[in-house]
Amino acid sequence: MTTRLYTHPVFLEHLTPPGHPERPDRLRAIERVLDDDSFSALDRVKAPEADEATILYAHPQDFVARVRAAIPESGIVSIDADTSASPKSWQAAVTAIGAANAAVDDVFDGRASNVFVAARPPGHHAEKTTAMGFCLFNTAAIAARYAQKKHQAERVAIVDWDVHHGNGTQDIFWDDPSVLYCSTHQMPLYPGTGAKSETGAGNIVNAPLAPRTGSELFRDAFLSRVLPSIDAFAPDLIIISAGFDAHHRDPLAEINLTEDDFDWATGQLMERAGRHSGNRLVSLLEGGYDLQGLAFSVAAHVGRLMKG
Ligand SMILES: [Zn+2]
Repeated sequence: MTTRLYTHPVFLEHLTPPGHPERPDRLRAIERVLDDDSFSALDRVKAPEADEATILYAHPQDFVARVRAAIPESGIVSIDADTSASPKSWQAAVTAIGAANAAVDDVFDGRASNVFVAARPPGHHAEKTTAMGFCLFNTAAIAARYAQKKHQAERVAIVDWDVHHGNGTQDIFWDDPSVLYCSTHQMPLYPGTGAKSETGAGNIVNAPLAPRTGSELFRDAFLSRVLPSIDAFAPDLIIISAGFDAHHRDPLAEINLTEDDFDWATGQLMERAGRHSGNRLVSLLEGGYDLQGLAFSVAAHVGRLMKG
């Protein structure tokens, strides 16, 4: 079984203001590192645009209309203090969702055992009715609901190792026990949510990490909180909200992981996907703002996915 990679040139055309950390060069750095011969076995596919009706799986119609209306004809507009949109942002966001949904199709239909989606904008901060934190729509949440509606998945686990808490994903599934949301993240840090005490319908597992946490405590959190929760839940699909901003080089946070930690965490989730989910694993790029840290981490992550 192969590992599939979805990308699309439009992901480079979602523009942010000069100096903004969430920038097109992030994807160029990923493309460059995955160009290496060691990734020649990757099944590279151009991402399709989503059926826009699937956005409604996680967001109400009036919010979707509001985002659409905010897309400018030229230039860059602010959606909130750190979230912006340019003329191609709608197509980029819809194509990110299309890639995630197609990845779900791939793992359920047996075209790939696992898939990495290298897309932007990211999604995990987008709440039901709020675009924020560089995110317009919650791609991971839509993909989880898509798996439930199109492939009769009963239980979907979303594991979010981005250094920021995925407040949006937590918001969307707060009272939905059919989706398990597990997050490791630095606390205190933007967006401020993600305390251990936030448990939703018993389906939210937050493992906050203190600033300057390194490999050992991160792996402890995975082994003691995340993995047992997955075992108890026995998901039909595992989705990773794969942000790489917990890397020690990242300028936006103070967690000190290395690419070896992402390799390790990927292996742990693949093992759980094998145990519970028929190996079905879909990984979606979220954050990661140091280009070298991001590239090395993605290489470790995708390299591990390819080992099967
Ligand atoms: Zn992040």
